[in-house]
Amino acid sequence: MHISADIAVAGAGVAGLWIARRLRADGYSVVVASDGTPGDGQTIASQGIVHSGLKYALGGSLTAASERIADMPDYWRACLRGETDIDLRATRVTSEQFYMMADASVTSRVTAFFGGQLTAGRSRSLSRADFPGTLRSGTFRGSVFEMSDFVLDARSLLETLGHGLTILEGRASPTVSDGAVTALQLSSGDTIEARHYVFAAGAGNEELIAAAGLPWATQRRPLCQVSVHAGDLSPLFAHAVSLRHGSKPRVTVTSHRDQDNTIVWYLGGNIAETGVKRTDEAQAAFARQELTALFPWIGGLKDATYRCHRIDRAEPAAKLQRPNEPACLTRANVTTCWPIKLTMAPMLANQVRAAVEALAPCRPQPDPTVSAVASPPWI
Ligand SMILES: Cc1cc2nc3c(=O)[nH]c(=O)nc-3n(C[C@H](O)[C@H](O)[C@H](O)COP(=O)(O)OP(=O)(O)OC[C@H]3O[C@@H](n4cnc5c(N)ncnc54)[C@H](O)[C@@H]3O)c2cc1C
Repeated sequence: MHISADIAVAGAGVAGLWIARRLRADGYSVVVASDGTPGDGQTIASQGIVHSGLKYALGGSLTAASERIADMPDYWRACLRGETDIDLRATRVTSEQFYMMADASVTSRVTAFFGGQLTAGRSRSLSRADFPGTLRSGTFRGSVFEMSDFVLDARSLLETLGHGLTILEGRASPTVSDGAVTALQLSSGDTIEARHYVFAAGAGNEELIAAAGLPWATQRRPLCQVSVHAGDLSPLFAHAVSLRHGSKPRVTVTSHRDQDNTIVWYLGGNIAETGVKRTDEAQAAFARQELTALFPWIGGLKDATYRCHRIDRAEPAAKLQRPNEPACLTRANVTTCWPIKLTMAPMLANQVRAAVEALAPCRPQPDPTVSAVASPPWI
């Protein structure tokens, strides 16, 4: 099949799909190419947290990174209520609440910061009676803060964003003529010809950049996430922080349901960053040790099954630091982009919109397709 549109997007993770919806809302015809099932990559592996940025202020002071995305939870909530042109009313919110639990080692300066004026509206200190159930019923003796962050079901987000779009399955590679991209050739045999091309393919951007002869350098930062299968876990959505782990959460716990509807804990944060140097067996043992130390009153954690999930975060090169904001680089008729965080996909889509501003929509929208989306790693 040969298909034509104003814009062709390579990649159907949260970035590609949000960009496609944004451009469709502005009248452009858009076709998305997806290597495999949409979302299969970082998006489906993500913890689904819509961040307020305070996780980048765990040192006890606001930073450029913490402030850049402070408004994002409010914007996403407006989308979830159907109040913006990206209507997410069909997306499932996994948890409206997100907490930070600081153990007794965390300094009073840091706890005062999270309960104080500077972070008002984004975090508040809770009295024990208001702790989430998992912490209230235990012997936890530290402080708990409720954050303005919340958690989305990434799969239902992908389904909502993909609904009504034209998504063709196949790995895209650019056809280049005189330094400009003239088409995307898909591994399925289909061809997409467009006036502007957007590479939003996560780790796949590396190959697309090379094939299109673009000068952008990239980096990958690996993670080894862990899912915890115990059969009788209560839901928990929290960063566990302690002085020893400085400005990064020791563990970030989100809770999801597996194919039997049983709650699974999914672990990120420092444990996932340091875990890349461990074997799967060592990482599982380390996760067991961390969780039994953090939650000694939850008996099931000792005998739970711990599974490892390795995945790279894909970004533009930034000396292996996390870039603070989404990246959108345009040369000729190609825009290459990375959201950096799922939370920042709306910001990225606005940048791409600005990059194609000179182009007036003119081609008709091809028929929409129906695509299943990827399954999360804990299933
Ligand atoms: C373990 C983990 C947890 C995270 N948790 C959070 C979180 O809680 N909150 C948050 O805000 N952010 C989080 N992030 C970051 C967030 O998930 C990513 O920034 C975001 O999902 C990246 O989206 P993307 O669409 O750019 O990439 P991806 O989701 O990786 O999607 C890229 C897609 O492009 C496809 N593709 C690749 N090459 C080609 C090609 N040549 N042609 C066509 N398609 C191609 C891939 O198959 C893939 O489906 C997390 C990341 C990881 C790895």
